[in-house]
Formats: sequence, C-alpha cells, structure tokens
Amino acid sequence: MTPVPVAAEKNTKNAAEQTCNLMDTILRKVDPQQPDAAVIRQAADILRAGGLVAFPTETVYGLGGNGLDPEACRSIYLAKGRPSDNPLILHISQLSELRPIVREISQTAQVLMEAFWPGPLTLIFPKTDIVPDAATGGLDTVAVRFPSHPVAMALIRAAGLPIAAPSANLSGKPSPTRAAHVAMDLDGKIGMILDGGAAEWGLESTIVDVSVTPPMILRPGAITKEMMEPLVGKVDVDPAILQKPEEGMQPKAPGMKYTHYAPKAEVYLVRGEQTCEIINRLAKKEQEMGRKVGVLATDERRRGYEADIVLSVGSRNCLEEVGANLFWALREFDRLSIDTVYAETFPIDGEGMAIMNRLQKSAGYRWIEE
Ligand code: AMP
Ligand code: MG
Repeated sequence: MTPVPVAAEKNTKNAAEQTCNLMDTILRKVDPQQPDAAVIRQAADILRAGGLVAFPTETVYGLGGNGLDPEACRSIYLAKGRPSDNPLILHISQLSELRPIVREISQTAQVLMEAFWPGPLTLIFPKTDIVPDAATGGLDTVAVRFPSHPVAMALIRAAGLPIAAPSANLSGKPSPTRAAHVAMDLDGKIGMILDGGAAEWGLESTIVDVSVTPPMILRPGAITKEMMEPLVGKVDVDPAILQKPEEGMQPKAPGMKYTHYAPKAEVYLVRGEQTCEIINRLAKKEQEMGRKVGVLATDERRRGYEADIVLSVGSRNCLEEVGANLFWALREFDRLSIDTVYAETFPIDGEGMAIMNRLQKSAGYRWIEE
C-alpha cells in the first residue's frame, strides 16, 4: 500500500486551525481486529523517532507520542493547542510496563486492573522519576491506561514504550471517534493517522484516583461506579465533575476544568416530559431570526421535532449507543453549520453520568427548564 495524504474537509477549518501545517500526514487504513504488521511497524518507527501517530482505541482516537520523551510530549501539547497544565495519560500494552513508571500499586488498583484491564479505565498512581514532568504537567502522579483495542495494543507493543496519548482533537473540540475527525483537526501537524474505523465506546476512559481511600472517579466513563463498587467497596465521585466550574469547586483532574467537547453552535440542554414541545417552540423562534437549528435527539422522539437537522444518537434504552454517537453528532452539527443545538438529556446514574458530564460541558451548563 502507498501512503495516502489526508485531504479531509480542509475548507471547514478557520484561520487559527490552519496555522503550522508543517508536514504531510500519512493516512493508513488498518483492519481494526488484525492490523497489518508492516503498517504498525511504520507507525511504531515514527513514535520511536519522537514523532506523533493518531490511532484508534476502544474509547476515542488517541494522539500518541513517546511518553518518556519530554520533547515528544511537548509536541503533543503543541499539535493539540493543549494547555500545559493538563497532564497526559500513558498507555501500556502489558502489565510488566507498569512497574517502571509507578512507585506504588495499591490493593484497590490491583483489583480494578484485574477486573477492567485491558479496557476503558485509567488509574492514577504515584510516578517514578523516569516519567517526565512534561507528561504529567509537573504532578508527582501519573495516569495510566491499558487499552483493549487490537490496533492500540499492537502499536504500543511494537513501539516498546509507554505511549502518551490524549484524545486526537484540537483542544476544546469534541473528541474524535473516527479517523476523519482526527484529519479535520490535525492534518499537517502529525506524522500519521491509523484509520481503524469508528470507536466502540465513543467517550473517553473513566479516570479513577486509586492513591486515595476510598478511590475517587475524576472523570466518568464506560466503567461505572456501579461496576466498581461490588469489587472495591465505596467509590467516591469528584463532586466538581457535574458542576459549573464557576461554582468554585476545582476538579481533581486538571483537564476537567476546561470547556471541552464544544461544537461551534450554542448548545442548550432540555429536560422533562415536554421536551419536544419546548424544543419545537424555541426552534421556530430561532429560525425566524435566521438561525439554523439542530436537535440532538433519540430514536424514541426523533420524529417529533421540527428543526433544520435532527440527529439521533440512538435509543434511550441503550445508553452505550448514545455514548458512542454523542461526539459524532456534535461534530456533524459543526459540519452542517448549525447555529443552535437543542439536546435531549439523560439520567445521571450508571452510563448516563459520562454522557451527561460531556453534554453539560458541550452546552456550557445551559439548561432550559419550563
Ligand atoms: P485526555 O487524554 O484528553 O483524555 O485527557 C486526560 C485527562 O486525564 C485530563 O482530564 C487530565 O487532567 C487527566 N489526568 C491525567 N493525568 C492526571 C493525573 N496525574 N492526575 C489527575 N488527572 C490526570
Ligand atoms: Mg481530551
């Protein structure tokens, strides 16, 4: 196969996003289950040489670089426009890679690792000196994940390094769940994109601080409080994660304080029995003012809306499907130049907590209640 330069939707980028396009980004398709060994070797070579490779994981696409090389870590921040106090997660592909980077593995960590690794769970450990400050934003702890996606596993193993891999989007944009989303944000800024199709979970990993007792969820994800508690007893949830940052509480994961997941449109959250009626009334008003309106809907209600675009993220009875499609829908609204989005909302327990955390951030915590 010859490398194909990425040419995805360049014309939708604004001026700021078009700056520093310094290289030809190679795009390679890979079989998500059995990736071609030669392609993986090519990507691993780029990582070992200090370059950046975007690759699929079971959560979202990650932007990988050598997690032990401060220069590679700095290039990740530069490519994403990520604030330098927002630390990176190091990804490993076998348990033997954990010991050299962490000082202590608590009993709780051990139980959670056995139950959920490889998978969409990130744990926070005290770090050793080989982990550079450039990866942790100067913290003395390090976030580690062992992903289950065959492409991620093969790449990390071939590189033979812990791979720092934040979501492969420009900082502040919804996380990418497809290779085309990565190309839209990072074409020209990174060495390679491995296209392994749509991400399975579609929301970033659950982050748990296992260095405190009881353990605390710093970011909700596919591995829920309800799944962990039968194994390790009480699990706390950082109360800041479902609150407006202005309300004064500092989230314990530094990155959670930033406005994330936001499309260009203004997003409003709507709840209650009258959701369809409320949205239709507000949509009409917005359209009269010349604005294009989108609705982030579910299968059950999608036919009840009158708007320019109605996108269903799946059934209310299958929150996994809703989570997998959420960022895709937010990016579609951007692509279709929607000005205002009204979004249905979900219960905040179980898998709903991760969905509502991302939705509230995308809406800047704007609720419509009548
Ligand atoms: P991303 O890689 O884009 O999914 O973001 C990584 C998230 O992990 C951010 O919210 C970080 O603040 C969080 N994180 C990474 N390292 C640590 C750490 N040592 N302590 C607390 N949170 C962390
Ligand atoms: Mg991110």
